[in-house]
Amino acid sequence: MEKLKEMILTHGIALDGGILKVDAFLNHQISPPLMKEMGDEFARRFQGESITKILTVESSGIAPAVMTGLALGVDVVFARKKKSFTMDDSLYTARIMSFTKGEESEFYISKKFLNADDKVLIIDDFLANGQASLGLAEMVAKASATLVGIGIVIEKSFQNGRKILDEKGIHTESLARIKSLDNNTITFL
Ligand code: 5GP
Repeated sequence: MEKLKEMILTHGIALDGGILKVDAFLNHQISPPLMKEMGDEFARRFQGESITKILTVESSGIAPAVMTGLALGVDVVFARKKKSFTMDDSLYTARIMSFTKGEESEFYISKKFLNADDKVLIIDDFLANGQASLGLAEMVAKASATLVGIGIVIEKSFQNGRKILDEKGIHTESLARIKSLDNNTITFL
């Protein structure tokens, strides 16, 4: 997606440790027109797959996931990082290792929002080592739902995630693929 690449080059900051900071349009401030374009693009790439639900994880996956849900006309569920007292007791859970925080934590989805009839598209902001995507896929499996594919806004292709998802035969679509962040320089694949 050219517009996304342009935004990454204009606003993205390549930090040490292979981390890309995109606080200006995705992870803190959010650009609605860009989110809308991304949602339309994910919908185009997964069209004809009879998707019934979008699944993401809070918080930065929510904006692109909502726009994809809008384009496909389906609801969006986000896995929560904390069990809120308003949540049902009946939950699907997965432990996910956070790439940016370096610690593992539990994620929760209420069972009433994911069931065996669902055809699920997972959306997330970044793909690094694939842990968030795999954790979400685990919850889809626990619900006996069908995983249709995974849509990623920014794939860091120099990390393991893409290879792991490909080896599992998961249809993965990334809107921007980054080959390297070496020397604090952003290079696309
Ligand atoms: P993974 O689970 O694939 O190792 O990492 C993906 C998750 O970690 C994403 O949900 C995202 O929140 C975070 N993440 C991974 N790499 C980056 C990065 O370079 N920049 C930012 N802002 N978040 C990242």
